[in-house]
Amino acid sequence: MTAEETEKTKKCDCEDTQRHFLNRAFETLRLDDAQRNLLLSSFRETLISIPLKVRRNGIEMLRTFTGFRVQHNHARGPFKGGLRYHPASNLNEIRALAQLMTWKTALVNIPYGGAKGGIAVDPAELHADELEVLTKRFTQKMRPLLGVHQDIVAPDVGTNPRVMAWILEEYSKAHGYTPGIVTGKPLELGGSEGRLEATGYGVATITRQAAADHGLELNQARVVIQGFGNVGSHVAQRLADLGATVIALSDARGGVLCESGIDVAAALAHVRENTWLEGLPGTETISNAELLELPCDILIPAALESVIDCDNAERIRADMIVEAANMPITHQADDILRERGKIVVPDVLANAGGVLASYYEWVQNLQEFPWERDTVFYRLEERLLRTYGEVHRLAAHKGVDMRTAAYELAIHRVSEAIRLRGF
Ligand code: GLU
Repeated sequence: MTAEETEKTKKCDCEDTQRHFLNRAFETLRLDDAQRNLLLSSFRETLISIPLKVRRNGIEMLRTFTGFRVQHNHARGPFKGGLRYHPASNLNEIRALAQLMTWKTALVNIPYGGAKGGIAVDPAELHADELEVLTKRFTQKMRPLLGVHQDIVAPDVGTNPRVMAWILEEYSKAHGYTPGIVTGKPLELGGSEGRLEATGYGVATITRQAAADHGLELNQARVVIQGFGNVGSHVAQRLADLGATVIALSDARGGVLCESGIDVAAALAHVRENTWLEGLPGTETISNAELLELPCDILIPAALESVIDCDNAERIRADMIVEAANMPITHQADDILRERGKIVVPDVLANAGGVLASYYEWVQNLQEFPWERDTVFYRLEERLLRTYGEVHRLAAHKGVDMRTAAYELAIHRVSEAIRLRGF
C-alpha cells in the first residue's frame, strides 16, 4: 500500500468502526433498516473554508483552511461536542466522532445530543494571534448553527480553554455575554472547577472499577498510557495517586519506559520545562508502537483514533484496555482483542467524564451559580459509577461485551426520544 492509500484506509476506519459497533447493538435491539438509517444519518453537516493571512520569515501569505461541524442528533437535547484542530481532520472522521457524542451523552443520560467540529490545521504551526483569528472566523461562519440551547462547543484534540474563550468572545459580540455557548472554558469566564481534569479523572474512576471487577487492585497494577495531553496526563496523575505503577508514557514524539515506575509529577515538570517527555531522567526511550505492545495489566490509549488496528492487535499484551481517546481501536482489532479474551472498556463509557463535566459547567452557567470543586467531583464520580454499573449488569445479563451493552442502552434512549417526539 502507498502512504496515501494507508492514510485513506485510516481515514475510513473511524466511520467503518462506528458503523460496525452500532450494527452489533442494532442486531440485539432488533431495529429495522429504516430505524437504523435514521440513527446513522447526520442532522446537518457543514463544511466551510476559512482564509487566513500568515507571516512566515517576514513574508505574508494567504492560506485557506477547511472547517467542519457535524450535528448528528438532537432528539434528547441541544447538539454537544468538541472542536478538534488536527491536520488530518476530515469530514468522515468528524461525522463518526459526532455520532459517538450522541451515544455518549445518552449513555450518561444528560440532556444533549451529539456533534463534533474541527479545522484541518496543525495548531503548532500557527502563531497564537493567527490561531485566534482562525478560531474567530470559524465561529463567525458557524454562528447561526450554534446556541446555548442549540449547539454547545467544547475542547477536543488540539484545542483548549483558550480556544473556547475566543469562541465565547466572538459569539458574545452578536448575542451579549454568553458563557454557556462553550464548555471547558477558563474559570475566569464562567468555566467549571474540575472541568480540565474531568476526562482523565473519569477515566481513572472507571479504570479502578473495571480493574476491581476483574480482581485487580490498582496498587498491584502496572499501567501504560499513550498520550500525555490533557487527558493522558490527568489519567496518569490520578492513577498514580490511586496507587497504580505507571511504567510507560508517551507523546506525539515517542515514549518513555521505566519498569519500576515513572514519577508522574516529575514527568509533568519535565514536560513543562522541555515540551516533550523525551529525555525524562531515569527512563529509556521507546517508540509509540513499542509502547502499545508492552507487557502490562492495563493499557490506556489516550491520544488519537485507530492506534490499535489489525496489524498490532495480536501483539497487545495488556489484559485490559481502557479507551481514554475516542475510537483508538478499529473494529477489526476489537474483534481480535475480544477473541483473545482481553477486556476492553469502551470510549463511550471510559471518557464520558469530559462531557459530563461539560454538562455540569453548562448547568452552572444557565443558573449563574458556580459549584464547589468537591460538588463537581462527587457528582462526576457518582454518575460515572452508576453508568458503569448499568453497562456492566447489562453486558453480564445479555452475555455481550461492554461496548455493545453501552451502545444498546444509549441507542434505546435516543430511539425512544425520537419516537416520542415523532420526527
Ligand atoms: N471532546 C470531548 C469528548 O469527545 C468532550 C466533549 C464535550 O465536553 O462536549 O467527549
